[in-house]
Amino acid sequence: MDHFDYLDGAMHVEQVPMAAIADAVGTPVYVYSTATLTRHVGVFREALSRLDDPLIAFAVKANPNAAVLATLGKLGLGADVVSGGELLRAIAAGIAAGRIVFSGVGKTAEEMRLALEHGIFQFNLESEPEAEMLSDVALSMGKRAPVAYRINPDVDAGTHAKISTGKSENKFGIPYDRALESYAAARALPGLDVQGVAVHIGSQLTDLAPLEAAFVKVGALIGKLREAGHDIRTADLGGGLGVPYDPSKPVPPSPADYGAMVTRVAQGWNVRLMFEPGRVIVGNAGALLSRVVRVKQGAQAPFVIVDAAMNDLLRPSLYDAWHDIRAVRPAGGRAAANVVGPVCETGDTFAMHRDMDVVQADDLVAFMTAGAYGATMASTYNSRALTPEVLVSGGKWAVVRARPPIETLIAGDSIPDWVRD
Ligand SMILES: *Cc1c(COP(=O)(O)O)cnc(C)c1O
Repeated sequence: MDHFDYLDGAMHVEQVPMAAIADAVGTPVYVYSTATLTRHVGVFREALSRLDDPLIAFAVKANPNAAVLATLGKLGLGADVVSGGELLRAIAAGIAAGRIVFSGVGKTAEEMRLALEHGIFQFNLESEPEAEMLSDVALSMGKRAPVAYRINPDVDAGTHAKISTGKSENKFGIPYDRALESYAAARALPGLDVQGVAVHIGSQLTDLAPLEAAFVKVGALIGKLREAGHDIRTADLGGGLGVPYDPSKPVPPSPADYGAMVTRVAQGWNVRLMFEPGRVIVGNAGALLSRVVRVKQGAQAPFVIVDAAMNDLLRPSLYDAWHDIRAVRPAGGRAAANVVGPVCETGDTFAMHRDMDVVQADDLVAFMTAGAYGATMASTYNSRALTPEVLVSGGKWAVVRARPPIETLIAGDSIPDWVRD
């Protein structure tokens, strides 16, 4: 459920007409709904209400905008970060270090030092060499780092290959079969305090079975680790729950279904459970608002050329993602169209032969469910300005990231004298 609705024939976000934002800020622009963010946090928390004090750490990479993070932080979420930059963003947005988890296969010594200085809740380690490095860094600071190992359970998440992370051939985690050896080695490292187990098998999962299979393996491992004398206090079950993108597809399992499954599977684990939801919190809370530049004749269907492009919303070209595309003020008719951006790449295609509202030049269109992995993946490819972002709450709205002038982009480069002369 979201808060992008038609009122008197025009799409509004909460009480604000989308057209008013487009007129004031220009297009393309990302628009986020506070009411939807709040609702999703509430639904997710409610789904886990039978657990004792779970840590819900929002996956910052899904939407790192400061205003979004501050909104989620105020609602009590922690943060799952995958870089020093995300760590600093989360802290700047007011999220306490004690609610921050650091994931990722390539943490550098410098990033480890930063996270230790701030005193984060947990590092999710992904290899033995990483464990050794973190121990050394912690010792050099006179500290012990709280850690979990992310295990690779070798289950197929059944999602797009580029967002699957839990198969043995993926780069993530330590092999499940070698976990006891890896934990024993970690325990011998004086700079580490081994406290948990972590797993995250992929994103946009539309079936609970692979998640359950992974969680069952986590539960079995907790038992074995305790037998081996480890004091396991946390289990981080990652993120990955899918959201509806295409209304013609079956709806993904709800947070309530997910929560019921977790509550059942994790019964008796006797740990603090942790979660790293990204998409399910922010996905439906955002739309990319764009204007039609022109409509061009195509061989089978017309090309609707919009002013948003793959640099603004990469998901369709990166992993064939499907976004609903709606006219902000539908004129009534529907027809097949190809929706493309202006970037000079055939991959800059949002939809082919899409049955959608008929639109013409200057009309506004909204790419729905663009709140997750949207603005965060934007680039300046084709020397296009980074996409601005707007946050709406009720009848209020604010630009929460301005569109930088293209001069700033140009001024960022420098031409050495020996080139100029
Ligand atoms: C990306 C990621 C998440 C969030 O995934 P969603 O599908 O957005 O919920 C959580 N944990 C880790 C380790 C990730 O890499």
